[in-house]
Amino acid sequence: MLSTDQIIGVMSSQGLRITDQRKTLAKLFAETEGYLTPKDVYDYMCKKYSGLSFDTVYRNLRVMEELGVIEQIVFEDGLKFRGGCSEAQHHHHMICLQCEKTYPIHFCPMSLADTPEQFQVVKHKFEVFGYCKDCQASKQESTDAQQHG
Ligand SMILES: [Zn+2]
Ligand SMILES: [Zn+2]
Ligand SMILES: [Zn+2]
Repeated sequence: MLSTDQIIGVMSSQGLRITDQRKTLAKLFAETEGYLTPKDVYDYMCKKYSGLSFDTVYRNLRVMEELGVIEQIVFEDGLKFRGGCSEAQHHHHMICLQCEKTYPIHFCPMSLADTPEQFQVVKHKFEVFGYCKDCQASKQESTDAQQHG
């Protein structure tokens, strides 16, 4: 994942003013392993900055996502964000539905899409959801426990 300095570096190279709040957001995402909902981020920011509006926090998340320093995934229970991968190459993600551990996939299926000629592709997303090895094991255990009463 990107470090705090890498996130700040990208933001400032794109002409974004590096405010104290943006530094805090960069640090939060660099130091968080999993995904954060906009509400998680807002709650965290409110502890540090009083009188912050949800809109301001959300707008910063949008900007950071557009710059690619954080990644946005739509889960069944809503939108979540995590720090961007340090993988320089274009890649996709395989995500565990239980622990939200994320693995890169280097195969890009885009060339297989039958894009109409007049359609200009700007970006695309491709995510695969499932269960990692650890979570498969724990699911198995809980099913066993239920069966044995
Ligand atoms: Zn990634
Ligand atoms: Zn898992
Ligand atoms: Zn791709």
